[in-house]
Amino acid sequence: IIEVNLTPIWGEKDGMGVVAVLHDITPIRRLEKMRTEFVANVSHELKTPVTSLRGFAETLLDGAAEDPEMQREFLEIIHRESLRLERLISDLLDLSKIESRKMPIQLEPIRVKSLIQPLAQTVEEEMKKKELLFRLELEEDFTVEVDKDRFSQIVINLLANAMSYTPAGGSIVLSAGRKEDRWWLQVVDTGIGIPEEDLPRIFERFYRVDKARSRESGGTGLGLAIVKHLVESHHGEIQVDSQVGKGTTFTLTFPL
Ligand code: ADP
Repeated sequence: IIEVNLTPIWGEKDGMGVVAVLHDITPIRRLEKMRTEFVANVSHELKTPVTSLRGFAETLLDGAAEDPEMQREFLEIIHRESLRLERLISDLLDLSKIESRKMPIQLEPIRVKSLIQPLAQTVEEEMKKKELLFRLELEEDFTVEVDKDRFSQIVINLLANAMSYTPAGGSIVLSAGRKEDRWWLQVVDTGIGIPEEDLPRIFERFYRVDKARSRESGGTGLGLAIVKHLVESHHGEIQVDSQVGKGTTFTLTFPL
């Protein structure tokens, strides 16, 4: 998209002329379009749980509360949807803080074992509940430079996804190691996998391969967008390999 500005000029000898200045405003328009789409997406994502909350609350008020079984079932839905709404709002706030650079990253030296072992412990219980085999593999202990809270968010998001998209009986491995001047962290699952054509888009905000499945597992569609931003603010890179029906591997690498 080209915007043209014409300015008349008056030369002393040659009479009148025109200066044309051409601006390529394609990037600006693209940004505007992205922003409008984002607002539309956010509104839609917020509206869905709110509509469901209102619906179930109204049904309870209309008399469903008199049946104890139905009451419990509806209250459970209301509870689950409120949690999802809360998570969505908190993810949105995180994303906007990261994108406007209001979330300062404080890189501090920490031993990789003391960084990752507690994270593995926090998910162990849930893995058992979901009948998933979970293993932590740390070849050696070494010092890395990370923002502990933000880095934990990266790992927890990846592990939560692995848990959501791996059926019972599957396995999940979290590992880390170093090679030359870089260190890496990997989350490998034996889950449903991601079709090749979706792989380039999974880090986009609200992009999901299967909307219903993501919603069912309480996903917000923002987890990987947050992960990607946080990895980049740690000067790292994220890579994904996946095969449908076999599983998915996320590999993160950072400078040492
Ligand atoms: P969500 O909240 O929907 O999980 P994310 O941003 O975390 O959103 O992930 C985006 C999409 O990428 C998911 O909806 C899912 O389709 C796909 N995905 C992410 N991690 C995995 C995984 N480990 N296995 C299979 N699919 C995954």
